[in-house]
Amino acid sequence: EKRKGKENIKVKKIEKPSVFPQPVQSFGELRERYNISNRLAENIHEQGYSVPTEVQLGSLPLLLQEPAKYLPGELCGDSSHVDLLTVAPTGSGKTLAFMIPLVRNIQAIRRAKSTSTKSTSAIILAPTKELVGQIVNEGRKLAKGTGVQITQVRKGMRLSEADSEVQDSDVDEGTSGPVSTVKSDILVSTPGLLQSIMENERAAENEHLVDVKFLVLDEADVLLDPLFRDQTLSIWNGLSNQELRVSLWSATMGSNIEELARSTINDRRVNLESKGSP
Ligand code: ADP
Ligand code: MG
Repeated sequence: EKRKGKENIKVKKIEKPSVFPQPVQSFGELRERYNISNRLAENIHEQGYSVPTEVQLGSLPLLLQEPAKYLPGELCGDSSHVDLLTVAPTGSGKTLAFMIPLVRNIQAIRRAKSTSTKSTSAIILAPTKELVGQIVNEGRKLAKGTGVQITQVRKGMRLSEADSEVQDSDVDEGTSGPVSTVKSDILVSTPGLLQSIMENERAAENEHLVDVKFLVLDEADVLLDPLFRDQTLSIWNGLSNQELRVSLWSATMGSNIEELARSTINDRRVNLESKGSP
């Protein structure tokens, strides 16, 4: 069956939320307010991050608060709306801003599930292999000891097997169960690579991504450029979870993301475009 393309996004204006979260002032405050695990907080501290950057101050509360009040099936008729759009210069700390909520949310999902099997909860797309590598590195430092697994998608990998890279000291919180049934919580990939894998596995009943609740488009302006656009939207269209939350991260507000940004739910935007790098 063919899914509706993102070109046909229907935008329905909905009321601004009555409660918009206050920006946080410190990582400590974040921890108190949003139920960040001790281990995640320690990892943030260990990385030498003491004060959130401006983009983190703005984005983290939006991503850490309870899910935005979606009206499933009413907003766009599918999962094509955007949860958050953040535009901020290179070097402003966007990676941490999307990674902290992913790790927190996935820890929560796994606690709630209480089964030994797990499935992929998040996909992060970035335009180059180098960026993908950097995101994986930063993510693993943050997720160390939380049990949250982050995997770089590689050529020839099967989604059903996207687990087995050894990650050090990744066992002291909540990991259990047979390794063969464990899939990575977070997949990080360039769009071309992941799309080709999804295409290949579609025939063999592509059920591996039904639990993906978070899609992060890093360098979204590039991912939505003609070069990557079809691949990016094809992956997005392949994610069927009704609660999918999509966030866009970019250094510039190009016309390509402006178009998608019109479907941003509740005007959830953080725009620091005009600010220089810190
Ligand atoms: P962007 O994706 O916005 O270009 P990065 O996420 O790559 O920026 O972060 C740029 C640099 O800033 C990285 O070296 C990162 O470790 C550092 N950084 C991020 N957040 C903080 C923080 N709160 N305090 C200090 N340094 C930070
Ligand atoms: Mg970046």
